[in-house]
Amino acid sequence: MNPIKFLEPTDFSEASSLLDQYTDDAKIIAGGVSITLMLQQKLISPSVLISLGRVSNYDFIRHDQDGLHIGALTKLRDIERSDIVKKFCPALAHTFSVVGNVRVRNQATIGGNLSAADYAADPPSMLAALNARVQVQGPEKKREISLGKFFLGFYTTALESNEILTEVVIPNLSSSARAAYHKYTSISAEGRPCVAVGAVADFDADGKCLDLRIAVGAAVETPQRLNSAEAMARGQILTDELVAAIAEEYSLRLDPLTDVRGSAWYRKEMIRVFVKRALQEVRNDR
Ligand SMILES: Cc1cc2nc3c(=O)[nH]c(=O)nc-3n(C[C@H](O)[C@H](O)[C@H](O)COP(=O)(O)OP(=O)(O)OC[C@H]3O[C@@H](n4cnc5c(N)ncnc54)[C@H](O)[C@@H]3O)c2cc1C
Repeated sequence: MNPIKFLEPTDFSEASSLLDQYTDDAKIIAGGVSITLMLQQKLISPSVLISLGRVSNYDFIRHDQDGLHIGALTKLRDIERSDIVKKFCPALAHTFSVVGNVRVRNQATIGGNLSAADYAADPPSMLAALNARVQVQGPEKKREISLGKFFLGFYTTALESNEILTEVVIPNLSSSARAAYHKYTSISAEGRPCVAVGAVADFDADGKCLDLRIAVGAAVETPQRLNSAEAMARGQILTDELVAAIAEEYSLRLDPLTDVRGSAWYRKEMIRVFVKRALQEVRNDR
């Protein structure tokens, strides 16, 4: 067997040109947390690894008039600890703080976490509820994809085979908006989520809900928002009855999967519980 060729481009444009050149034989390696496991387990056998380790200036966290910008090579641990992220949206910093364990978070990058498109992940649901989008670089052009359109299915994204995720952008939240992330683990406290719920709500001065976005992940193939359930909140006070009805809608309408972390039936029950808790948090947090 030929040894794997290890290439180290110094910018994303060069990296995507290499992807283009080697097509299906090549794989990007960022933090290496997922991909080294896939290589060890022989789930993939690329002949070329394109490391992003020498690409500089893409481990940044910046806030400007467009929102929060996080470079693809930013480690999860740096996002969790960032004062900029904590000020922008404490629930977002919390989301990164509950990924796996500190060893994983010190190594893994946000670009790798999203590009892996593992359904049992934490950041995708919170970022989907925050209406995040990703910037991607191809050999010739850059483009932006909303996170709602980025995840296509199990381990599948909208990235073309020669594209690289370069940045995540999270639009500014209004000063009256509140966010919450609830992770339910069924096996171990440090484990991957069985159910993941990201919620963002905005309220007027009378406490009526102006906007509600809830994305449920980990229990389903890709993070799911339900327009019908979100619409139930608009213009309403989030009473206990309404919170319960919205949680019920998510439990009824989503079609969860069965895996080692729980059956489809069990996940429906847990979706109801954790959507309710996330809603209670955004409501009570005002
Ligand atoms: C023990 C353990 C526990 C875990 N627990 C959790 C958890 O609780 N919650 C959770 O969310 N995750 C969890 N994970 C998953 C972990 O967060 C991901 O493995 C990690 O975020 C991947 O990031 P990385 O930078 O290491 O990516 P890599 O492993 O380097 O790459 C992952 C995939 O993305 C591709 N890729 C990487 N960067 C880019 C890019 N910029 N553009 C295009 N493609 C790219 C690679 O080709 C590869 O296919 C856990 C993992 C382990 C090993």
